[in-house]
Amino acid sequence: MAFLINEECINCGACEPECPVEAITAGEEIYEIDPSKCVECEGHYDEPQCAAVCPTDACVPDPDHPKS
Ligand code: SF4
Ligand code: SF4
Repeated sequence: MAFLINEECINCGACEPECPVEAITAGEEIYEIDPSKCVECEGHYDEPQCAAVCPTDACVPDPDHPKS
């Protein structure tokens, strides 16, 4: 279970400090989510915080890391 950041990312940096498990980092071109860390904010917030703050809807569910 994880979210990913797609090519809509404009590198605004808003999502990085919002992640409760520090899964988000600035990648070489756009921000990235470590799927081994992302918990979809379960146990922390009612909704994924990265998606909630992203101005371009770049944070979306990762089909390669579905909920188990
Ligand atoms: S969904 Fe939550 S835990 Fe996963 S990267 Fe976004 S803010 Fe972090
Ligand atoms: S909030 Fe969205 S646009 Fe901003 S750095 Fe994160 S993924 Fe990129």
